[in-house]
Amino acid sequence: MEAAIRPDVVIIGSGVGGGTVARQLAETGARILILERGSFLPNEPENADAEAVFTQARYRTREEYQDEAGRRYRPGQYYYVGGHTKFYGTAMFRFRDTDFRETEHEDGTSPSWPFSYDDLEPFYDEAERLFGVRGQAGQDPTEGARSHPYSHAAIPHEPVIADMAERLLTQGLRPFFMPSAVDFGPGGSCRRCGTCDAFVCRYGAKGDGEMRLIRPVLKHPNVTLWTGAQATRLLPASDGRIAAVEVRRGGEIMRIEAPLFVLSAGAINSALLLLRSTDAAHPNGLANSSGVVGRYLMNHHLSGLMGLMPFRVNDTKFPKTLSVNDFYHGVPGDGAARGNIQMLGNIQGPMIRSAYSWMPRPLANLLGRHSVDWLCMSEDLPRAESRVRLLPGDRVEVAYHPGGRSAHDRFVEHARARLRQIFPVVLRHSFGIEAPSHQCGTVRMGVDPTQSALDSVCRTHDHPNLYVVDASFFPSSAALNPALTVCAQALRVGNHLRASWRNDNLAA
Ligand SMILES: Cc1cc2nc3c(=O)[nH]c(=O)nc-3n(C[C@H](O)[C@H](O)[C@H](O)COP(=O)(O)OP(=O)(O)OC[C@H]3O[C@@H](n4cnc5c(N)ncnc54)[C@H](O)[C@@H]3O)c2cc1C
Repeated sequence: MEAAIRPDVVIIGSGVGGGTVARQLAETGARILILERGSFLPNEPENADAEAVFTQARYRTREEYQDEAGRRYRPGQYYYVGGHTKFYGTAMFRFRDTDFRETEHEDGTSPSWPFSYDDLEPFYDEAERLFGVRGQAGQDPTEGARSHPYSHAAIPHEPVIADMAERLLTQGLRPFFMPSAVDFGPGGSCRRCGTCDAFVCRYGAKGDGEMRLIRPVLKHPNVTLWTGAQATRLLPASDGRIAAVEVRRGGEIMRIEAPLFVLSAGAINSALLLLRSTDAAHPNGLANSSGVVGRYLMNHHLSGLMGLMPFRVNDTKFPKTLSVNDFYHGVPGDGAARGNIQMLGNIQGPMIRSAYSWMPRPLANLLGRHSVDWLCMSEDLPRAESRVRLLPGDRVEVAYHPGGRSAHDRFVEHARARLRQIFPVVLRHSFGIEAPSHQCGTVRMGVDPTQSALDSVCRTHDHPNLYVVDASFFPSSAALNPALTVCAQALRVGNHLRASWRNDNLAA
């Protein structure tokens, strides 16, 4: 069915990538249609209920993926207005200068990006302001040059975390205030409710894609959001341009034509949409003449460390104020064992039991109350065999082969040894691809069209009016949280689109 709507731009997905591009284009007056498969997340008590969020997986997709052995599982994918940031932990890091350059690792090469940190810096600056990031410049030993300090002061540590910072200082480390997008401070809406990372904020205090991007952009009369609208295929024209998108909404299948398409469905779903969009001229899907679409899936090596305090309750409400980058380029004597250390959000009993169901509830609750929880993050090297692909019957297979695992393990053991100087017991938990929280890389950028799907402004090499702007564009994953980099590059792409499309294609 032909839809009775003629947008100038169709944006598929309302996460950080899609929301930021919408924000950049809104003031051009172009008629923008945002297609979002999910709904607005309801504000309800379950938002902050660990049993509902973790044990019952209330907000997770009901889709199933499978691994290479055919084992099926319900992935940690969330489809709502604002995308994954509705659940994110608000850590808003810039990647390091070196992350944009080719770097040799023990287990392979981290490729260069088609632009440098300096090229992205003004957009990082804007992205931080857009998301209201709080931080303190000049403390993190690995941070790149900044054109401006943070516009909001860092969120202060609560007593237990301040104590951790002191103890790390005495070990000769340089802990710093973690940059975080929470509306905290005088007049702010954060109530330090105790649930943030992996939960939904009921007070609108989390700087997420809905609050910071979509709600403001909907004030423009030329911007329309369709919820419950799942893009199922992109339809190419014979000249190589994209003619239309096929959308399933309310039981109907519609076809929407537009001069410009921005695909921002998240790294796994953007790749799947391109792979699904086959025709005689594109048997391997769209934007895929290089064959890279769906490949080079990365998610970070993520390990949690739980430091137990048998005689002290950790009453911290918002622990994510502290981070350590002293080992970003290697631990002493082992340059390959590298990564970032940051606080995890509050870990509660039901969260522990969702991974260790055999554990008695009282023990899980006790561990939750008496622990200080850390996250060790290392770069996950891109590998062609690490991929998402479609199997017959539209089944989704995720074959995950992250590069750099043993170096990560050594880094974690070093971090653990450091924490053993503070805690009598330090437990470890590794996160897998079942929770693809930092998914990226599946529609990679690059200068060589035979090795990449996108150019440096996220335009597909194959289709001049199709851009892919979400974490799928990452050529490498760095060892830091991805959302600020998605936003900064989306701002950069938005600028490019304003300059190059306005006269030709967008409404005046
Ligand atoms: C629990 C958790 C904690 C995290 N913590 C942090 C953190 O502290 N810091 C950080 O930087 N990052 C964090 N992340 C990661 C961060 O949230 C993501 O990197 C970021 O949100 C990715 O943005 P995106 O635009 O690439 O995609 P998404 O956020 O995935 O947005 C894609 C959107 O497209 C929609 N969509 C998908 N398919 C279709 C379709 N076919 N048609 C229409 N719409 C579609 C989805 O519903 C979604 O709204 C966390 C993630 C999780 C899950």
